[in-house]
Amino acid sequence: MEAGREIDGGWIALHAGRVHSTGSSTQPTPPAERVIDAGGRLVTPGLVNTHHHMYQNLTRAFAPAINGTLFQWLTTLYPRWAALDEESTYLSTYVACAELLLSGCTTSSDHMYVHPKPNLIDAQIKATTEIGFRFMANRGSMTRSVEDGGLPPASVVQDEDTILSDSERLIRTFHDPTPGAMTRVALAPCSMFSVSESIMRATAELAEQHDVRLHTHLAEDKDEDSYALEVYGRRPVEYFEDVGWATPRSWVAHYVYGSAEENQRLAAAGVSATQCPSSNMILAGDTADAQALRSMGMPVGIGCDGSASSDSANLWMETRGAMLLARYRSGPSAMSAREALSMATAGSAANLGWSDEIGHLNPGACADLVIWESSQLSQTGALTDPVEGWLRSGPASGWYVLVAGNPLVEAGELKLGELDEVLPRHAAAAASMQGLN
Ligand SMILES: [Zn+2]
Repeated sequence: MEAGREIDGGWIALHAGRVHSTGSSTQPTPPAERVIDAGGRLVTPGLVNTHHHMYQNLTRAFAPAINGTLFQWLTTLYPRWAALDEESTYLSTYVACAELLLSGCTTSSDHMYVHPKPNLIDAQIKATTEIGFRFMANRGSMTRSVEDGGLPPASVVQDEDTILSDSERLIRTFHDPTPGAMTRVALAPCSMFSVSESIMRATAELAEQHDVRLHTHLAEDKDEDSYALEVYGRRPVEYFEDVGWATPRSWVAHYVYGSAEENQRLAAAGVSATQCPSSNMILAGDTADAQALRSMGMPVGIGCDGSASSDSANLWMETRGAMLLARYRSGPSAMSAREALSMATAGSAANLGWSDEIGHLNPGACADLVIWESSQLSQTGALTDPVEGWLRSGPASGWYVLVAGNPLVEAGELKLGELDEVLPRHAAAAASMQGLN
C-alpha cells in the first residue's frame, strides 16, 4: 500500500510469492486456494532487519563481558568468536532466523565479519535457504589486528587478497539481483578500527563493479572519534567520505555521533542509517536522533544488532525501542507507532536498496507480511488505535508470518522442520565457545 495507507477490515490476495491485490471489506475478494481469516488482527508488511551479527547468539549475555564499554566488550569476546566454524555459524543463523520470524521479521541482513575459518557465509546461506527466509548476507571483514594498531586479535583478521577474492566468490555464487530474490550479498568491512584504509577503498570499488550494497559501522562510539583522529587524522565521517563510501549504495549501523553538518552531507549523498535501540541502551552509549536524520531525507531503518550486545533478535521490540528512544529524547510528539513501523519497513527496505519489493504491501510487492497476535492478555483493552495498541501494549509476536507467500509461522507456531534438532546442537556449540564444557 502507499505509505501510510490503512484498510479497516480489508483483504489482501497473494499469488506466486507476490501481493496480487488488496481491497476493502466492501470489495469482492478474488478466488483463492486458501483463505486465512485475520479478523480482528493487524496485518503489516514484514519487518526488515538491517543490522545483526547472528553468530553472536552463541555468546548471549556472556557474563565476563556484560558490563564493559563497547571496546572492552569486543576485546573480551573476540577470542571466543575465534572458535566459529561452519557448524556453529549454520546453527546460530538458523536460531536467529527463527527468533526474527516470530517477531514479525521477514527479511534480514547479517553483518558477518569474523572469519576464523572459510565458508562461514556459505553456512549462513545454507540455513536461510533451508528455512526460506529472505536474506542479505554481508561479507564483513577485519584486517587490522592488535599488532597493527587495531582492536581484534590476529586469529580473527584476514589479509586483503583473501577478503576481496572471497567477496567476489560470494557475489558470483549467491548474489541474486533479479526481482523476488531470496538471497543477496553486500560487502561490509567491520569498522574503521578493525580494517585498513585500503580495504575500505577496494571494497567500495568492488561493490561498484558488481552493483552490490555497502555496509559498515559508523560513528557508533565516542572512542571512535579519538581513534579516527589519532590514526587517520580525520573525524570518522570525514574518513568515510574520503575512502569513497558516501554514496547511495551505503547504509551504516548506529551513526550516533555525526555532527549536524556531517549529517547533512551524508543525507545529501544518499547514505542511509540503521538504528539499533536495544544495543544502544545496553552498551549505554548515546543513540542517533532518528527523527532529525529522517527530516534531512536520510532513510533510517531498524536493526537488532548482534545477539551478544542486544542479546535478542526481536524486531518488534526494536521497533518499540525506536519509538521510546525518540520520545524519551524529544518529547511525546516525537514519534508515533506508525512512524516507528515506517522505519522498520520502508526505512529498512531503503537501507537494503530493496524499496521496490519489500517493506510495503503494494500490488507486486514480495508477499512478505505479518498477521499479528491480538488476543494476548496485554492487548486486551487496546480498542481505539490498532497500530498504537500493537506497539505500545505488546509483547507482540507473529500469528502468521509469510515470506514469499509461504507461512513460516502458522497460528503462532514456527514451521521450521529442523528447529527441534538445531536447538540442542546450538546449546552445545555455545557452551563450547564459552568454555563451559
Ligand atoms: Zn553491529
